[in-house]
Amino acid sequence: MISDFSANRIKVMGTSIFSTMSRLAFENKAINLGQGYPDFDGPQWLIDEAYKCMKEGKNQYAPTQGILSLRKAISEMQKKYYALEWNPDNEITITAGATESLYSTFQALINEGDEVIMFEPFYDSYQADVVLAGGILKYVTLKKPDFNFDINELEQAISDKTKFIVINTPHNPTGKVYSIDELKFISHLAIKHNLLVVSDEVYEFLTFDNAKHIPIASLPGMKDRTITISSAGKTFSMTGWKIGWAIASEQLTDAIRKVHQWTTFAVNTPGQHAIAYAFTKLNEYLPGFRNEYLERRNLLLNELRTTSFNAHIPEGSYFMMVDIPELVKLNDEKIAIELVKNYKIATIPPSVFYGKSDEGKKMLRLCFAKSNETLIAGAENLRKFKI
Ligand code: PMP
Ligand code: GLN
Repeated sequence: MISDFSANRIKVMGTSIFSTMSRLAFENKAINLGQGYPDFDGPQWLIDEAYKCMKEGKNQYAPTQGILSLRKAISEMQKKYYALEWNPDNEITITAGATESLYSTFQALINEGDEVIMFEPFYDSYQADVVLAGGILKYVTLKKPDFNFDINELEQAISDKTKFIVINTPHNPTGKVYSIDELKFISHLAIKHNLLVVSDEVYEFLTFDNAKHIPIASLPGMKDRTITISSAGKTFSMTGWKIGWAIASEQLTDAIRKVHQWTTFAVNTPGQHAIAYAFTKLNEYLPGFRNEYLERRNLLLNELRTTSFNAHIPEGSYFMMVDIPELVKLNDEKIAIELVKNYKIATIPPSVFYGKSDEGKKMLRLCFAKSNETLIAGAENLRKFKI
């Protein structure tokens, strides 16, 4: 018998729920409203640009911190949309998706035993990253119906070992967009207790109705204690390109780059050039992009009205949570399996995004970054589910 050589710190880790549900969708020939990725391509002009970059010979290693034109484009975007000034030389780092920015940030800044507060439901890689870095997880629950948090619960979660508060706005999986008052309160605590904030803003351009995305780094006193993370995968509907970035003060960036250098060293070169070009078109691109997603959100909300699943209207991101009907006595994982196998519709059971409460057992997450046909067919299958 071969021994188990795996390191102790990974023994608690399972397979990502996104991979599990996409595999089940494939095996059961089900409509996939589970894993969060568009089932269509990003703009053709961007594909053409990437192809052009490859033909022009932009195919060898990029500098480890990312190509300068992309770092400059991100700096200009932050200035134009949020009035934030960042030096592209030493405050912006291009990584393999937001996933690697998150990993490099936590590896770079957590010491064994440091506590990290995150709001549940959380994006699953935060939990894994903190465990891999030797940190201790503390949770604060976003509660239905608005997915707001209790300010006392947040304040009480802070101890003398706390190093980070992690936020994600617009929020996966609930579609919540943090309000200015919530951000002010988090900032107040961060400054009072000398904490860092990781702000995952990958859906920064996906807000609906009157919701407005506010980067917490733009609040007074927050610029030097925030690591802002985002990704081109969402904004340009190219999740497979895996181009993300981390923005932070020079001192924090220096630490993050040390880990990034030994993790991926550099990110694919033609993709970086193509995304730098895409940023030059951002202004004209965004209204159509937002509108298409708004239509998809509204289509799914409308379709869901005639199912047994009550939706929580998302103000941002491309996800929504639905309640499992009360009469159904199955938890989220069991019903997700039942739905994918017998009703041919894949969803995400969100209890894996919770660390302390059972709230996730009563909901499912649906992704609406899908074509109209997929959304209609998915809702049709959900409609067949009768209590
Ligand atoms: N953060 C959140 C909240 C996400 O939803 C995702 C992916 N959907 C990521 C990070 C990872 O982004 P990337 O694909 O750029 O690594
Ligand atoms: N972030 C995507 C989601 O929330 C999935 C990304 C992944 O599979 N790693 O579904």
